[in-house]
Amino acid sequence: MDVNTCPVCGKGKLVRKVLKESFEYKGKTTIIPDYVVHACDKCGEEIVDKKTLAKSGRILNEFKRSVEGLLSGSEIKAIRKKLGLTQEEMARILGGGAKGFARYEAGTVCHSKAMDTLLRLLGSFPYLILFVQEKACYVVPDKKKCLPARPENVSKIRSEEPCYAIPEGLMLSLTDKPYTLEFRSHLG
Ligand SMILES: [Zn+2]
Repeated sequence: MDVNTCPVCGKGKLVRKVLKESFEYKGKTTIIPDYVVHACDKCGEEIVDKKTLAKSGRILNEFKRSVEGLLSGSEIKAIRKKLGLTQEEMARILGGGAKGFARYEAGTVCHSKAMDTLLRLLGSFPYLILFVQEKACYVVPDKKKCLPARPENVSKIRSEEPCYAIPEGLMLSLTDKPYTLEFRSHLG
């Protein structure tokens, strides 16, 4: 079959058209200019151009994210850079699939609200990544006590305030002033 023959009716010819296509999501509208379709001159069927499909997919994902109040692809990338992690490392630590972060940043996939919340927390408090990676310690200087920052240890130190959490590798001794202090909290 001729590449210009309509695959739907098999009779008409496909004619390239450049449109201004509008899309609606939850009452908000966005317009994509240069929206290329191949329209049949017999049955009227419109086949979206492959390049347009890929490009508009990214634009629509960004649009959906802005309507939902989710981070944009470039904002996700900025948070990842702040954490000093690769896309693969982000996926391994936070989930979202092996290619997840490449897709979130490129805008080919829309991330979840839960992932958005997690990323916003890490963007504002980057050291929290140490807790996710279990690379932080809860330090209670007065009690000369140090416990790995794991959920099961939270109850053990709940009554012992103030509590410091610092990266394991940076802590020399419990009697040292925690000058590497990154985080101070009142747990419980
Ligand atoms: Zn047709």
